[in-house]
Amino acid sequence: MRIGMGYDIHCLVAGRRLVLGGVEIPYERGLLGHSDADVLTHALCDALLGAAGLGDIGLHFPDTDATWAGIDSLELLRRVNEMIRSDWSVGNIDATVMAEAPKIGPYRDSMCSRLAVNLEMNPDHINIKATTMERLGPVGRGEGIAAQCVVLLRKRDDQSATHIAG
Ligand code: MG
Repeated sequence: MRIGMGYDIHCLVAGRRLVLGGVEIPYERGLLGHSDADVLTHALCDALLGAAGLGDIGLHFPDTDATWAGIDSLELLRRVNEMIRSDWSVGNIDATVMAEAPKIGPYRDSMCSRLAVNLEMNPDHINIKATTMERLGPVGRGEGIAAQCVVLLRKRDDQSATHIAG
């Protein structure tokens, strides 16, 4: 088994859609970035790549490459899944979205479903938490949204790991 972690942060600006975990959330501002700036999906991609020892999202999808301009980050997630799926299965995913607003709770189940479909896994093995930053720092001032993610990958031919996991 291998563990991986990911972190990302993007600025909130007017005139952009807010997309988190592949779900569009109605809000007065959205995240700024080369892609759709889905900070949660980016943190998840980085955690998966990290666990598999495959570098990071910037290595595979550089923001200097017009191919990825405005792209749906779920497409990036599908590509990451393609890179790892022959060797690894995803055990579980635990993520935290850090945002002063809007409230994430009403969209949590939809996010889990979207992410799970694109990773070909059970949504019950994805947990998404949300917290404010108590008005501290750039996220606390509402200047951006950040996300952290931890994943566990199981080697597909690792019988002992399969046994431990039941
Ligand atoms: Mg990003």
